[in-house]
Amino acid sequence: MVFPGKKKIYIFFFVFLLIIAGFYIFRRAEQEINLYSQTEFFMDTVVSIKIGEDPAVEKAVNKAFEVMKKEAIRLNRYKEDSVIYKINYSDGKTINIERDIFLLLKKAKKYQELSGGAFDISIAPLVDLWGFGKEKQRVPEDYEIKEILPLIDSNKLLLQKEYEQYRVYLPSEMSLDLGAIAKGYIIDKGVESLIKSGYDSFYINAGGNIRVNGEKSPGRSWHIGIRDPATPASILTEYITALKKGSLATSGDYERFFESEGKRYSHLLNPRTGYQERSLRSATIYAPTALQADILSTAVFIKGWEEGKIFINSLENVEGVLITDDEIWLSEGFKKLLILQ
Ligand code: ADP
Ligand code: MG
Repeated sequence: MVFPGKKKIYIFFFVFLLIIAGFYIFRRAEQEINLYSQTEFFMDTVVSIKIGEDPAVEKAVNKAFEVMKKEAIRLNRYKEDSVIYKINYSDGKTINIERDIFLLLKKAKKYQELSGGAFDISIAPLVDLWGFGKEKQRVPEDYEIKEILPLIDSNKLLLQKEYEQYRVYLPSEMSLDLGAIAKGYIIDKGVESLIKSGYDSFYINAGGNIRVNGEKSPGRSWHIGIRDPATPASILTEYITALKKGSLATSGDYERFFESEGKRYSHLLNPRTGYQERSLRSATIYAPTALQADILSTAVFIKGWEEGKIFINSLENVEGVLITDDEIWLSEGFKKLLILQ
């Protein structure tokens, strides 16, 4: 008769333990990725929400998408029923707008001032001149740029609250483009909606602008990377953040651009010169809200390597990463957001 040797029993027991451990690890991993995820395409971009799975979550996420889509239309200057279209075609007449858009425009004006004009929502005529948002882009002539520059000045956008009326005046030849704000704005609206539905832990991503709230799963942060401008399909593995709150947004010259005579022309324009700024490949901002991060990433990209750093360091609760062709700068506070410190 052959009895199983002691050794065999040990091996048997060991394998049994491994299976148990395996099950345990598998369950943990499953718990960790037990997220409900939904992705939709609007605003010319991919928008997704990730949130802990539960029976009612789909309804809340659908509601958040509904809110975000509605807001996206309101800000889209190409849509005739949007409030921005209404302002752009107001023909120099003062018109009434809703309070929330009034407050948004006020904020946009504030950031124009704060950024010394690097960020300016009255950039639309310049965006059109370069052909962004249209089928064909081209490098304008110098004189065309010079002609258009006086129209880029949101100091001429007047906002006035009279009694309970929110009034806006835009000179007839000017127009607004909220492209550098819209994604941030709608993400914050999505966040509000999910919180209203009773959720406090989730992730919203609109075309690379991300805001998170709460933990991914108990004890776990959301891990968010920064794209490598040299190879935008990959992320910079040394600079992955672990976030439980706040927003990350990146403005980069690889997002939307065209090439002419071997030169790259991105959709980020300096309102003061009418041309692209070339010192940075990308500017990433961490800020409490998605609106702030979105606005500031554009502003810092335009400010460039030197001014950008000073600007980030001057702002409270704002951190950033600037990337050039051969250098990377991280603000001190940004380093603390990284997984590997
Ligand atoms: P992305 O859309 O790639 O995330 P941004 O958030 O920086 O990039 O927004 C870029 C858009 O904002 C442009 O397509 C244009 O419509 C508008 N824009 C470009 N330059 C400026 C600027 N200096 N200030 C405000 N808006 C800008
Ligand atoms: Mg932006």
